[in-house]
Amino acid sequence: MEIRLRDVLTALEAMFPTGTAQSWDRVGLVTGDPDQPVRLVHAAVDPTLEVIEEARSAGADLLITHHPLLLRGIHSVATTSAKGASVTSLVVGDVALWVAHTNADVAEPGVNTALATACGLTESEPLTEEEGITMGRVGDLPEPVTLSAFAHRLAAALPSAPGGIRVAGPADGRVGRVAMLGGAGDGLMEAARAAGADVYVTADLRHHPALEAREEAALDGGTPFLVDAGHWASESLWLAEMLERLGQALADAGHDMVDWETRVSTICTDPWSFTIGAHSDEGDPQ
Ligand SMILES: [Zn+2]
Repeated sequence: MEIRLRDVLTALEAMFPTGTAQSWDRVGLVTGDPDQPVRLVHAAVDPTLEVIEEARSAGADLLITHHPLLLRGIHSVATTSAKGASVTSLVVGDVALWVAHTNADVAEPGVNTALATACGLTESEPLTEEEGITMGRVGDLPEPVTLSAFAHRLAAALPSAPGGIRVAGPADGRVGRVAMLGGAGDGLMEAARAAGADVYVTADLRHHPALEAREEAALDGGTPFLVDAGHWASESLWLAEMLERLGQALADAGHDMVDWETRVSTICTDPWSFTIGAHSDEGDPQ
């Protein structure tokens, strides 16, 4: 039987239940008709205009993104604003948009378990809880490594972004216990420390919260070290796995998968384009 958008939504909702999203979040179907056929699914972290154009030129029927297109109210979808142009392009191009944001963060597997795997963890548990919803992951590496080796391995597992990854801590510091939160993680620094993490991997770390956390850590053996892995990069890893599982769920539901095709966007939506003047004095990786 032909796959309709409503069939895909049923499978996605089972993987990433809307009810597990945080109350401020806006997830689910943004554009599209549940009756429309779906053959080609495109996935990306951000629904930028360029990503939408990429999905349209590939002939995608459905675009799945992590970040919401419409988080705050808008009053026009005219092409005179970027949001309006995005909605118009999706509608004119007959591309449905479906979003899984904080509900994909908490899912197991989901955004944070994919990041945990990239960090080298084979097992992990939730780092903390907010509004009864789990946040982040924490776990122990099979073998402790140096901070430098840890960061090099993580960088190799992440898609390359112009800013690379930034590390706070000594290159030869010992890393055994790892806490993480994909995307902006300023708010869980204390949770990472309380969990006994040697390193906290997240993104969007600002000067004051990062420096203050390092000052506190200095009084307490120097950990947790910090790794800013980049927002886009740290949240990219789950896309391929999610598409794989979606295809499997539809096949298990008895759908004919002969025309089914999925693609992960090749566009880096990290807002930075290039870096100048960065220096690294970590020494040789261990
Ligand atoms: Zn994010």
